[in-house]
Amino acid sequence: MTAFEGDLTAKLALYSIDAIADMIIWTDRDGRYVSANKAAQRLLGFTMEEFRLRRVCDVDPLFSEERWREHWAELERLGTVTLETVNTRKDGVEVPIEVTANLVCVDGMRFNCSIVRDITERRRNEAKLKALNERIYQMSITDGLTGIGNRRRFDEALAGEVSRHACSGEPLALMLIDIDHFKAFNDRYGHLGGDDCLRRVAATIAATVDGSAGLAARFGGEEFACLLPGTALAETTMVADRLRLAVTDLAIPHALADAGIVTVSVGAVCSERVIAQTSNSLLAAADTLLYRAKREGRNRIAVGQY
Ligand code: GH3
Ligand code: MG
Ligand code: MG
Repeated sequence: MTAFEGDLTAKLALYSIDAIADMIIWTDRDGRYVSANKAAQRLLGFTMEEFRLRRVCDVDPLFSEERWREHWAELERLGTVTLETVNTRKDGVEVPIEVTANLVCVDGMRFNCSIVRDITERRRNEAKLKALNERIYQMSITDGLTGIGNRRRFDEALAGEVSRHACSGEPLALMLIDIDHFKAFNDRYGHLGGDDCLRRVAATIAATVDGSAGLAARFGGEEFACLLPGTALAETTMVADRLRLAVTDLAIPHALADAGIVTVSVGAVCSERVIAQTSNSLLAAADTLLYRAKREGRNRIAVGQY
């Protein structure tokens, strides 16, 4: 390197300190600010004189004296440490920051030389992404037509409740609900009329079961499923019949059904003892009971013990 090139390199290094958008902050081992570049002064709002009157613990609400001592010890051990924290600007606004701290020895004294980046934008994007993920997840477990849980939501909850039941021995009830003569309803009132009926029945089932701390979901087509954790046989029978009556109370006209209104049949199984229940065996038992209710004339419940 020529002398000219050496001079230029040194000059550029010096210029870069105040030219870059990232903050360069030097502190001593007590966390006292020794030097801060223009970006740090601009972003945190302190003049160099004001920085010198402060310590990291004054500006970073997440750094206690103890945390600072731990940080310094880690820095001495590793030489460089990257962390995310918060700085309070002079105007009181908190700024999320990413810090890459480096232990630098100058004239026999050790300093913490940090490159500090304002990550407000990154945090904002992370929050947006998290909210979006949550929305997508909610959509993935919600039935689009009725707004109640869908089959995926139900399957997940059922698997969880079956293993909880196996551990705790608390009773677990499961109901399958099927709208009677729904094909005929569609034929008579059209598919849109059918959709509206499904929405109203779903809302009624959800409202009835919510009161009993259960979960209601659309199982598929005109079938719904409910989970009633901690519900014994007698109470299961009561909830099933309350639900059936709540649908008849809607009094949705159905000219092609014997009752003249929309009704449902319910198959409910209650497991009060832990044997070898699986999600599928409980569903199969509820399905068998549902078909018994259908066979026996519809608009009725069939309840059994597993
Ligand atoms: P049962 O009393 O034995 O239950 O007779 P059903 O007519 O209710 O049963 P079936 O299985 O024969 O017919 C179910 C009907 O549900 C057929 C199908 O068109 C209708 N269906 C399923 N999903 C939807 C939906 O999302 N919207 C509408 N409008 N109809 C649906
Ligand atoms: Mg059906
Ligand atoms: Mg049906």
